[in-house]
Amino acid sequence: MSERIGVAILGSTGSIGVSTLDVLRRHPDRFRVAALTAHRDVEALFQQCLMHEPDVAVLADTAAAERLRERLRVAGQSVEVLAGVSGLERAATLPEVAYVMAAIVGAAGLPPTLAAARAGKRVLLANKEALVMAGPLFMAAIRQHGAELLPIDSEHNALFQCLPADFASIGLAAAGVRRLLLTGSGGPFRTAPLAQLADATPEQACAHPNWNMGRKISVDSATMMNKGLEVIEAHWLFEAPTAAIEVVVHPQSVIHSMVEYQDGSVLAQLGNPDMRTPIAHALAWPRRLASGVTFLDFARLGKLEFQAPDFARFPCLRLAFAALEAGGTAPAVLNAANEVAVQAFLDRRIRFTDIAAVVEHALERVPTSAAEELAAILAGDSQARTVVARWIAARTLEV
Ligand code: NAD
Ligand code: MG
Repeated sequence: MSERIGVAILGSTGSIGVSTLDVLRRHPDRFRVAALTAHRDVEALFQQCLMHEPDVAVLADTAAAERLRERLRVAGQSVEVLAGVSGLERAATLPEVAYVMAAIVGAAGLPPTLAAARAGKRVLLANKEALVMAGPLFMAAIRQHGAELLPIDSEHNALFQCLPADFASIGLAAAGVRRLLLTGSGGPFRTAPLAQLADATPEQACAHPNWNMGRKISVDSATMMNKGLEVIEAHWLFEAPTAAIEVVVHPQSVIHSMVEYQDGSVLAQLGNPDMRTPIAHALAWPRRLASGVTFLDFARLGKLEFQAPDFARFPCLRLAFAALEAGGTAPAVLNAANEVAVQAFLDRRIRFTDIAAVVEHALERVPTSAAEELAAILAGDSQARTVVARWIAARTLEV
């Protein structure tokens, strides 16, 4: 059994983390869970430790880690419990770990994901915010340390599947690629009357028509900031010029994205909207693995629809394109402002429509600089958080 592949899951208690464990559980002969990490949910990580018996478990919150250590001791489990960012980085770089699922939500995922790249691991990247913040730095780390980068975001995983195997070494132009077509469902408010958006509740925003996801990415899908972050993600992952990335609204979420070639061919990847497909793809690449996902039934599907994105309804999409165009630390500012705004919306401190307003405010206020150093990126991130917190605090609100 020693040749089983050791897997670390950063963010194992979340939506992607749980889906990853579900796929791994189907293939105990191929993989073993070496490390599990979460923010502060002691109970969920405790249960996962009992079930998967990792070598290491990490909670970012130190007090929560202490409680987990005690519970595991009482239960007679010999899991090593670590805490904090250093613990997350340790989980991502353990010698017995070959594959790292990067599934922490938000900027908090950047340090351990970068550590995994620097340790030369196969990085299964769900945490798009890490790439949005630190694209050039992260891609350079992957190259310099011989790491493998496999996209988990369903759109990017689809594009990866539709590109030739040597696209990274020859470049998209030489591969004959004309455009990357990123599909997006348009979320729960695609057809809602515009006047109602200001009063949209967190429950409505989190009720995605096709995907079952964590709350932050669900709100991002409702504003279409998620698609904006994915445009930036695609730009770095595939070295695609901004003008070669197009967003196509596709309400059924069956086509996960497409590559358009110079000869007029368009290759698409299709499947039921279930993240276990891209997860199994990245775990098995370049082979295939059963994922537990139900197969498409085309006769039942009936039809697939497409529309152009509505930038007036979804100003966050426009702001993401603008941040990418501005370059440097602007995407890190966009990302941090959005993270704080989404949390404030989920806490009912601002309106749904304030999210775009406050992100735009941060992009106007925070000076940007080159993004080659982590320090500059983190400074942009933290200035954006301060500017947004001030904006929110200055408003009296009755949502
Ligand atoms: P989630 O909220 O369900 O889970 C997040 C995980 O990260 C949890 O395990 C949580 O404990 C951990 N975490 C949160 N804050 C942390 C912190 N400060 N330090 C350490 N750990 C922390 O989120 P999710 O839906 O699973 O999404 C995870 C990532 O994957 C996001 O970046 C998201 O954009 C991306 N993604 C998710 C989906 C999906 O279907 N859920 C699809 C594509 C991409
Ligand atoms: Mg996606």
